[in-house]
Amino acid sequence: MKKIVITIDGWSSCGKSTLAKQLAKHLGYVYIDSGAMYRAITLYFLRHHLDWTDVLEVNNALKNIILEFHFNEKSGQSEIYLNGENVEYVIRDLVIAEKVSDVAAIKEVRTFAVAEQQKMGKKKGIVMDGRDIGTTVFPDAALKIFMTADISVRVERRFKEMFEKNPNITIEEVKNNLEMRDYIDSNREVSPLRKAADAIVIDNTNISMEQQLKIALNLLKEI
Ligand code: C5P
Repeated sequence: MKKIVITIDGWSSCGKSTLAKQLAKHLGYVYIDSGAMYRAITLYFLRHHLDWTDVLEVNNALKNIILEFHFNEKSGQSEIYLNGENVEYVIRDLVIAEKVSDVAAIKEVRTFAVAEQQKMGKKKGIVMDGRDIGTTVFPDAALKIFMTADISVRVERRFKEMFEKNPNITIEEVKNNLEMRDYIDSNREVSPLRKAADAIVIDNTNISMEQQLKIALNLLKEI
């Protein structure tokens, strides 16, 4: 079968990466987590105490950033490397989640990340999830999905994930962070979070992981 590009956009913590990983595994495609790239850039900025309101500083920093994904045979997942260091775990921290949407709203950061993402998609056969993948990164993708789920379900899922790492975290912190990121992501000037006109909505509030994969595979059959 001819390889295509599949894009999955949507709100924070609504199951995008779960579906993307399911599809990639099923189809033998590469999964790319574009959010991990913005998180890794944020980690670099924080570690270097960068003033990201200063365009010159941002541009100089971006010149020193190399992002790569490597497949980890043990975990069966692709993991992100920042200048050769595996940062897959550390970028999931709340400290990063609190700043990532501000960093991702910077025009220069987006230009950098989008160019990298487009390079990764050149050979097709990828599933990429994020906020602007169907609208900006791959506007010609053959299959575009836009995911959504009720905020309470999203908060619960993200809380469970984060609680495992940090038992001091509260539901309120997680809820505030999701709402703040959704607000910034959908109101920024450059490539705000939007459903692409030709994207198909999957609301996974009340469906199982198996059901969501089935729906996506049916969409694939239709195209
Ligand atoms: O997907 P994840 O929640 O890890 O993304 C973290 C943040 O990265 C988002 O809240 C958003 O600010 C930014 N992002 C983005 N565009 C993408 C993917 C993520 O702006 N394509």
